[in-house]
Amino acid sequence: MRDTIKSVEAFQLEWIPGNSRLTNSGWVRIATEAGVVGYGEVSPMMGGEHSIDIINRYVAPMVVGADPLDHAVLYDKALHKLVKLGPEGAVTGALAGVDIALWDLKGKLLDQPIYKLLGGAWRTELPFYSSVGGNQDTTVEETVARVERRWRKEQPSAIKFRLDGDRTRQDSDIPGDIAKIRAVRALVGNDMPLAFDANNQYSISGAMQVGRVLEDLGYAWFEEPVQHYHVHAMGEVAQRLSITVSAGEQSYTTQALVDLIRSGVRMVQPDIIKMGGITGLMQCAAICFAHGVEFVPHQTQPGIGHMANLHVLSTVMHMTKPAEYADASGRTDIAFTHPIGPENGRFKLSERSGLGLDVNEEEIARRRV
Ligand code: CA
Repeated sequence: MRDTIKSVEAFQLEWIPGNSRLTNSGWVRIATEAGVVGYGEVSPMMGGEHSIDIINRYVAPMVVGADPLDHAVLYDKALHKLVKLGPEGAVTGALAGVDIALWDLKGKLLDQPIYKLLGGAWRTELPFYSSVGGNQDTTVEETVARVERRWRKEQPSAIKFRLDGDRTRQDSDIPGDIAKIRAVRALVGNDMPLAFDANNQYSISGAMQVGRVLEDLGYAWFEEPVQHYHVHAMGEVAQRLSITVSAGEQSYTTQALVDLIRSGVRMVQPDIIKMGGITGLMQCAAICFAHGVEFVPHQTQPGIGHMANLHVLSTVMHMTKPAEYADASGRTDIAFTHPIGPENGRFKLSERSGLGLDVNEEEIARRRV
């Protein structure tokens, strides 16, 4: 007899007591009648609160009683039922969390790691790049110190630094940004691949000015130079510069990803916990392969979404850039009985079934909000 879904629960986890709830993670726990449990994660934006509510209120009643192996059908049924909430953001984040949990269950039911069920891995050890945020209001010296700390500690294959600034400002300190771009190159030397993430803070002309400096200094890519909602402006900047321009972490549907590629962007960064989960990210990989576009998924924090992302990345033939390693704080490690961070400059996938994570259930119960 086939196992069926008995319960679906979405909840917040508080990693650092007393911190704003908006820094919490949103997890999904799905259990079957036979007692098999799968875990997923929703987009952590605003602490995942809105996605959690959508799962508990609308998605859970739709999937309880269903066969977990029907995850892709369940996904599309839920998406088309909820589409009038606005398909972008909280809804796709919610469905991503459920999809990942169902893939984790599928792996456990079939006793295989997810990458095997996706067709096999080209690699189970993945290089990563250190993603260093919060550099809008820092001094040049502070940015250099932040980058240096991560570079020395983590043995990354590349380094990206991000502005993470106020999106209501535009071109607010181009000379200052260029000074940081030059100083970081001087710090690491010419051989270390570098990237710069503007986090949507330039006009087209501001982006052109900064982009030409990045080209001169041999940066590998220039991320989200202009507002993500100005899809054609993003494409224009990508087409006019010779440096690779990337975007897509704020695309929530496969259709939006195709629009970005059609605009001229040639490296896209969909995020597994914002759109589609494992099912959706595999579709994104196929779209990129069909268009000859670089597929370099976005990641925010090591955890369930991160592991799901690695399973997908392991199956991609043309892995042109390392995986993103954004949050090196280790604050989510407590949720797992074995470390999930990098070792010797690599993320590693195990042969354990599902996502390959051993979740510490007692710790999770303690940290549930
Ligand atoms: Ca980014």
